[in-house]
Amino acid sequence: MAEDALIVGSGPSGVSAAHALLERGRRVLMLDVGVTLEPENDARARRMGAVDPDAWSADDRRSALAPAPEGDAGMRPYGSDFARRDVVGFFAGGAPADVALRPSFARGGLSNGWGSAVAPYRIEDLGDWPARARDLAPHYAAVSRFMPISARKDDLAEALPMWSPEGSHDLPSSPQARALLDRLGRRKDALVRAGVVFGKARQAVRSGCRQCQMCLRGCPYRLIYSAAHSLDALLAHPNFRYRAGCVVEAFSETPEGVTVAMRSAAARESIAARRLFIATGVLPTARLILGSIAKPSAALTLKDSQHALTPLLHAFSPPRGLANAPQHTLTQIFLELLSADAPCAHVQIYTYNDDYEKDLKARFGPAAGALSPLIGVISRRLLVAQIFLHSDLSGSMTLSLGPGGALDIRANANPATAPAMAATIARLRRALSPAGVAALPFLARHGAIGSSFHCGGSLPMRDAPSGLETDILGRPAGLSRVHVVDASVLPSIPATTITFSVMANAHRIAMSAPD
Ligand SMILES: Cc1cc2nc3c(=O)[nH]c(=O)nc-3n(C[C@H](O)[C@H](O)[C@H](O)COP(=O)(O)OP(=O)(O)OC[C@H]3O[C@@H](n4cnc5c(N)ncnc54)[C@H](O)[C@@H]3O)c2cc1C
Repeated sequence: MAEDALIVGSGPSGVSAAHALLERGRRVLMLDVGVTLEPENDARARRMGAVDPDAWSADDRRSALAPAPEGDAGMRPYGSDFARRDVVGFFAGGAPADVALRPSFARGGLSNGWGSAVAPYRIEDLGDWPARARDLAPHYAAVSRFMPISARKDDLAEALPMWSPEGSHDLPSSPQARALLDRLGRRKDALVRAGVVFGKARQAVRSGCRQCQMCLRGCPYRLIYSAAHSLDALLAHPNFRYRAGCVVEAFSETPEGVTVAMRSAAARESIAARRLFIATGVLPTARLILGSIAKPSAALTLKDSQHALTPLLHAFSPPRGLANAPQHTLTQIFLELLSADAPCAHVQIYTYNDDYEKDLKARFGPAAGALSPLIGVISRRLLVAQIFLHSDLSGSMTLSLGPGGALDIRANANPATAPAMAATIARLRRALSPAGVAALPFLARHGAIGSSFHCGGSLPMRDAPSGLETDILGRPAGLSRVHVVDASVLPSIPATTITFSVMANAHRIAMSAPD
């Protein structure tokens, strides 16, 4: 018997669609490649997560803090590359050198090792979205009922509504973040006049943080949200089934339903359903769409929200014992740089983590030994601002199918990016300087196109879609039973964080899709 709904992918967009469909009483089968963490890394995280940080064994601590292998600069939650390992031969001809974006084939997708910063899009940033898709409000609220969010009601709430249900908790700020928030607060009026709104960062994290500084290496207490947590909960639902080890390769639509062609270790097979929801992340989704319904010569334009990392130095004294102080190492402060004539820029400020000293030593090379005391002092006054630009001010990627059906990705620079980033860093510098924080733009690291992983818009939703555009239910023009629910369908990529909005939009589409 055909399924009510097939969802392909178990990342944030897939689990959001599943929540909505189950709420509507649908029977859901989720197909996924579903790579998981290696048993030895999982066992170590479980051992560490079962006790307080001061009871961790020296061996476990050492392995958890081990540096990445030479040449591997990507995310490594729990010491593993499982979240971005190409187990399906996606880049059989070699990964593109000039584009940093990568697909995930993991159970829970890229959310296994993300920064977990969550903010909704500002309503002003959705001007080019089709009318009804702009109404994400009830869906942000629905997502925040299954994705835990740490948030404090502060001045940010006006620009970035909270959407968290009552009783959301508040992750403790680090000592440096408390000092900086206090200093910014003292000149709030001047900042508001300059179009700068700031507040405590919001993260998708459960309460109970042990402040063990391991966030960026994989929380041993599994408090940082992963879509895999939602999947674990969904498995208890009687109408939900999950199959890992499935690589979906193509789909076709008939008047009665949809059929997907997939391969698993056992065989190639076809599965029929009344509706299909594609949540495979922007690169695999592009390949599925191009390979299933597009002309061989078709190409898609994938938008990026480009980012840069700018070091900041604070003049005020660092708190005593900062390196060993209990603190989390996720982003601590959000700043929104608003403007009447340009899209808003989003800034995330990170405070101390023990990588700063290692990075500085690497930068100073052979002189690092002699400069060690100075490096120690600098690393305790160092903050990092991660700046994101709107997709209108960022580069893009052209996606097409190459020989053998492999996805070909080409980066396209945008001449507006460098001046926009320079102007944003200058604004940030003016905003932070009176609070005793100096921005060091000459040391900024500018992310390559796609390296923010805040990418989408290759199949943009439109009121009147044509070609490979989609309608407000994520359906490519001409199809009625196939819904794309990941970031591919966002018409633009505003600078604030992407995933909360992708999840809200996936939930909206699955809630509104016809029977
Ligand atoms: C280092 C890093 C930090 C990040 N930090 C943030 C942040 O702080 N805030 C934020 O908002 N966003 C952040 N992101 C982005 C965020 O992780 C993604 O936006 C989000 O995971 C996208 O969710 P998704 O469900 O669309 O796709 P994915 O997470 O990519 O999931 C794709 C799913 O599809 C499955 N799949 C793929 N192809 C197939 C196939 N052919 N057949 C079957 N299954 C398939 C995979 O197994 C996987 O389950 C970060 C990303 C990275 C890499």
